[in-house]
Amino acid sequence: MISIKGLAKKYDSVLAVDGLDLEIPEGELFGFLGPNGAGKTTTIKILVGLLKPTSGAISIDGIDLYQEPLEVKKIIGYIPDRPFLYDKLTGWEYLDLVAGLYSMDMDVAHDRAEKFLAFFDLETFADELIEGYSHGMKQKLIISGALIHNPKVLIVDEPLVGLDPKGARQVKQLFQDLCAEGITIFMSTHSLGVAEAMCHRVGIIQKGKIVAMGTVDQLRSQAKHEHGDLEDVFLKLTGDSDFAPLLDSLRGSQRK
Ligand code: ATP
Repeated sequence: MISIKGLAKKYDSVLAVDGLDLEIPEGELFGFLGPNGAGKTTTIKILVGLLKPTSGAISIDGIDLYQEPLEVKKIIGYIPDRPFLYDKLTGWEYLDLVAGLYSMDMDVAHDRAEKFLAFFDLETFADELIEGYSHGMKQKLIISGALIHNPKVLIVDEPLVGLDPKGARQVKQLFQDLCAEGITIFMSTHSLGVAEAMCHRVGIIQKGKIVAMGTVDQLRSQAKHEHGDLEDVFLKLTGDSDFAPLLDSLRGSQRK
């Protein structure tokens, strides 16, 4: 469903994405993990058409992103890490606006909007201005907007940040249900627990390259951490060495 071939992105002297190859089948919940600055957000912005890559090819549901960008945008939903919302709209007006941008049939759109607002317990706030929403409520509205046009692919940058435990559980359940219906989800997360609990497969990116990919169990055996949790595996695969100089210098300063 998502095919990425030889993707690279250079910002001046920084090679943020360095020859990425990924094939993600329909219905998979794919977790994209990596340390800060690894290239996750850059990859996601390229996937949704917000950034141009330096080289490489992307197709979604067999449609080439660069030849038919609008066709691809019709079938994807995007949840950014720093979402933008119009504060002076109500929640309902925002969903109406998004549905209009996708040229949806308004009866279908209103039906889906009502379902999402009910699912996220936002019905009583639907006619309130977004400026009065909490961070978590805004997140839930963004997720509803990203799904209103029934996309085939959902691309998500850090979906659970700022949600309370109930909201996080609702989103986890929703994403798993969507995948069971055949929607493909590409999700970047810093939360190893989330990746472990939700994702069918995980790819770990470091310095713009995939350094490990597979199910959490496969990654465990790759890292020879048969009994470790994903955090141990992640640190082993991305090299605990990032921490070693700091730990050494702290030990040194204790000795003085
Ligand atoms: P984080 O987990 O911290 O959000 P990330 O994995 O999403 O990080 P990116 O934001 O994709 O990483 O950044 C990858 C590299 O590209 C970093 O070295 C970053 O400094 C650099 N970078 C990102 N955006 C730009 C930009 N607009 N101009 C120049 N360099 C950039």
